[in-house]
Amino acid sequence: MKFGTRVIHAGVTPDLQTGAIMTPIYQTSTYVQDAPGKHKGYEYSRSQNPTREVLEKNLAVLENGIYGLCFSSGMAAIDAVLKLLKPGDEVICTRDLYGGTYRLMTRIYCGLGIKFHFLNMNDAENIEHLVNHNTKLIWIETPTNPLLNIIDIRKVCDIAKHNEIKVAVDNTFATPCLQLPLDLGADIVVHSITKYLSGHSDVIMGAIVLNDEELADQLFFIQNSCGAIPGPQDIFLVLRGIKTLEIRMERHCSNARSVAKMLKNSRAVDQVFWPGIKDHPNHRVAESQMKNYGGMLSFTLKENTQINAFKVLRHFKLISLAESLGGVESLCGHPATMSHASIPKDERLQMGISDSMIRLSIGIEDPTDILEDVDMALSVLD
Ligand SMILES: *Cc1c(COP(=O)(O)O)cnc(C)c1O
Repeated sequence: MKFGTRVIHAGVTPDLQTGAIMTPIYQTSTYVQDAPGKHKGYEYSRSQNPTREVLEKNLAVLENGIYGLCFSSGMAAIDAVLKLLKPGDEVICTRDLYGGTYRLMTRIYCGLGIKFHFLNMNDAENIEHLVNHNTKLIWIETPTNPLLNIIDIRKVCDIAKHNEIKVAVDNTFATPCLQLPLDLGADIVVHSITKYLSGHSDVIMGAIVLNDEELADQLFFIQNSCGAIPGPQDIFLVLRGIKTLEIRMERHCSNARSVAKMLKNSRAVDQVFWPGIKDHPNHRVAESQMKNYGGMLSFTLKENTQINAFKVLRHFKLISLAESLGGVESLCGHPATMSHASIPKDERLQMGISDSMIRLSIGIEDPTDILEDVDMALSVLD
């Protein structure tokens, strides 16, 4: 089955009892047993829930993986992966990580004796200098947030395999529609389902997909022991939203291409960050590992001040100022004071997230209206 068919059908079968085509919402905490320990595979909904199983199966198939696990948020999924680590272990991470992941690593896990190295992975060879016998995990986010850097997943995985280190990829921005990290050699894929997978800005959820049975068993143990599982009503919304993932991504990508082109030609704009642009520093890597370039883009202003960024943000009409991304509606944000506010200023500037940077999550509205809004907002700087 092709991807556009799998999003609709993978893991989903009509209800045996009624023929209902949509997966029933099994809103139950427990299941009746015939005799103590004698049951139909379901004991308690933290451990197993039939609605959740359908989404877990669907996600596993979409990522070309075997095991899928859903969590109550993207952060809960990431937290579950980090719980595989022990004091003394070291992790090598992409430098411009999602702010929440950076916070979880530096504010929670550092205190538990785990060491994180953040580095620019544009050049995968940089990683080898940091590898030692304590290195247990390499954490990749690509495209990165908000700079839209592209990391060569194959190259990093080759280095990792050579040193017997696991690789986790946060595939939230690309989705399995555009990029399949397990096929490129990664061991673990994590998602904030909240974004493109659910796609309608109405759910917080996360997931892990992987192939390795032993690692999957450990993560199932963590999922059940720690209990950060999503409820069946939210899962129903995701099962509905994910059916249109492919056609939504096509429109997100083509709209983003149009906006990137317009921004490139704008007098007010300095740099445009979108991996689909030919002069993007990692365009060739993006071309080789992604099917298309995604709906996220960032740009900076010629007059590089926060005041100017705020002026533009205030003048968007259609595009709403909000955290989050990946929904059908276009959103704008100011990374320096919003998504990346928890990163110290010096570090943030060093990473290249300047004061005037604006991040756009391009929705699937008619492109004419999005372009008109961007043009109108930028004209405030004329
Ligand atoms: C939003 C996001 C997360 C966190 O997911 P939540 O569902 O908000 O907990 C992690 N990684 C990336 C890349 C994200 O965009």
